[in-house]
Amino acid sequence: MRPTVVREVHAKSILNRSKIHDYCINPYTGCEVGCVYCYAALFMRRYSGHSEPWGQFVDVKINAPALLARQILRAKRGSIWIASVCDPYQPLEERYRLTRRILELLAERDFPIVIQTKSARVRHDLDVIRQIPDATLGLTIATENEATARLFEPHASPIAERVAVLREFKAAGVATYAFAGPLLPGDPEHLAALLDGAADRVLIDRMNYVPTVRRFYARHRLLDALGEPFFRTQARRLALALRKRGVAADVVF
Ligand code: SF4
Repeated sequence: MRPTVVREVHAKSILNRSKIHDYCINPYTGCEVGCVYCYAALFMRRYSGHSEPWGQFVDVKINAPALLARQILRAKRGSIWIASVCDPYQPLEERYRLTRRILELLAERDFPIVIQTKSARVRHDLDVIRQIPDATLGLTIATENEATARLFEPHASPIAERVAVLREFKAAGVATYAFAGPLLPGDPEHLAALLDGAADRVLIDRMNYVPTVRRFYARHRLLDALGEPFFRTQARRLALALRKRGVAADVVF
C-alpha cells in the first residue's frame, strides 16, 4: 500500500443532494483505492486542497455519524447512495468504522440505501445491512481479468473476492448488482460466466474521459484500443452474453 496522508476533519454536512440518487453520503474525502479512471480525482483534489496525488490522501469525517443523526431527522424520505466520490470500504474503514456507524443509524430509519464498493470489507457489515429494510449492494466488476483490474484499480479487492461477496449478500437476501463500468479490456463471455448467479442485475457503463484518464490512456497507448467503438462493442457483447444466461443487464450509456 502506498503512503497515505490521513487527516481527521469535521464535515459541515454529510447527507447531501445527489444527481443519481436523492442523497449521497461520503464518509471520507479521498480514496485509497486510487483507480486510474476515477472521475472524482479531478475535482476532489481541488475541493479538498490536497496536493498529494489521488489515492494518497484521505480526509476522515470523524463527526459523520453524529452529523447524520441530526440531518436525517429533517430529511424527506429518499434513496441514499453510499458513496459517490469515495469507496466507503476503503482500507481506513477498518480503523474508523464510519460507514458501519452510518449504516447502524440508517437501519433505524426507512430510507432506501444503495452501497457501492470495490472492497470485500463490506462483508463485515452484512449483519447491519441485512437489517435495513431496503438495502442494495453494488460491487464494481468491469473485467474478469485480474491483471487488468490491478492496472486500473490498484487497491481494490481481487475480482474473485468481489464476486464471492456478491454471492454471499444475494444468498442472505440482500438486493445486489454488479457494476460493469467503466468497462475494461477482457472477454465478455468470461465476464458473463463469472457474474452469472452472483447478482440480481448487471449495469454496464463506459469510461468517463476526464483529463487524468486521458493522460493515463495516452501514456499506456490505450486511447485507440479503448475508444468509443470499444465500449459500444464490448457493452453489446456483454449484455448479450448475460441475457443469454438469464441475467438482467442494462447498458446505461
Ligand atoms: S473506488 Fe471509486 S471513488 Fe475510489 S478511486 Fe476508485 S472510482 Fe474513485
